[in-house]
Amino acid sequence: VKQAKQVGRPQVYEAKQASEARRRFSIETELRRALDKDQLKLFYQPLINLKSGEVAGFEALARWNHEDRGEISPTEFIPVAEESGLILQLGRWAMHKAADTLAAWDKEAGERLPVYVGVNLSAIQVARDDVASVVQSALKSSGLTGDRLTLELTESSIVQDPARATRVFDALKSLEATVAMDDFGTGYSSLAYLQRLPIDVLKIDRSFVTGMMVDPDSVAIVRAVLSLADALGMSTTAEGIETVELATTLATLGCASGQGFYFAKPLEPAEALDYWKSRRRP
Ligand code: C2E
Ligand code: MG
Ligand code: MG
Ligand code: MG
Repeated sequence: VKQAKQVGRPQVYEAKQASEARRRFSIETELRRALDKDQLKLFYQPLINLKSGEVAGFEALARWNHEDRGEISPTEFIPVAEESGLILQLGRWAMHKAADTLAAWDKEAGERLPVYVGVNLSAIQVARDDVASVVQSALKSSGLTGDRLTLELTESSIVQDPARATRVFDALKSLEATVAMDDFGTGYSSLAYLQRLPIDVLKIDRSFVTGMMVDPDSVAIVRAVLSLADALGMSTTAEGIETVELATTLATLGCASGQGFYFAKPLEPAEALDYWKSRRRP
């Protein structure tokens, strides 16, 4: 709106805003239908142990191939799901699907895979759903133990209601699940919460990892996060590793694990199991 005034062509911007609002509204309606018809999928991106090169786990990432619009990015539909409340249904679906998939891999491989599956939890779920019960129910129906799940929470799930977040994090820990702080460094939470909450892993945001190639400040930030995690007894994961140089540098700096297109993009479940087998050491 501000920009429209400046350039003096308000009608163009109003038209653009109206069409964005229409798309958002259609996405909401169609997402509700897609969830009801079970048309979303989860893809699995490997997280690699940077020391051993083996797969440490997989992050489950929602995918929506819309029948007319094609692939819609989660960066578009997750915010819509959050604003509309559909994230509660989507989140429960993702938790159950991810747990069932890991249990199916175990069965197919004929052994308990030494990997976890990471599931993203939105701040809206933390605020409005009983996420510990959702996790418990997914564990029960899949037969997995809690230590096979990593829950990726963001700083935004803490800032609104720290007391509630504390109860939720504690409840997740009592199920023996791993708690990871996703996109660490991009939010507004206070460092005091790192001390107070049972956080096992810091996931260094992709923006800092990408920045390492060109910007000494990003390297300094990554080093600081790694040393903070070490001092607090937490593990670390880096997201957005796109080159061998980044993988090597992060390993040298002591980052425990990482994910990124250099290793693999998010994969279909069958491809993910094959990927695990291919990186397994004899
Ligand atoms: P996130 O949890 O931080 O997930 C990591 C994102 O980084 C994924 O994007 C992944 O595809 C992308 N990524 C990984 N490695 C690389 C790389 O080397 N280069 C680049 N350019 N990107 C990389 P994706 O799948 O588009 O998901 C975006 C966000 O949507 C996620 O960020 C997460 O916040 C949200 N999301 C996705 N699935 C779910 C879900 O089931 N539930 C919730 N609550 N949020 C989800
Ligand atoms: Mg994540
Ligand atoms: Mg992340
Ligand atoms: Mg994110």
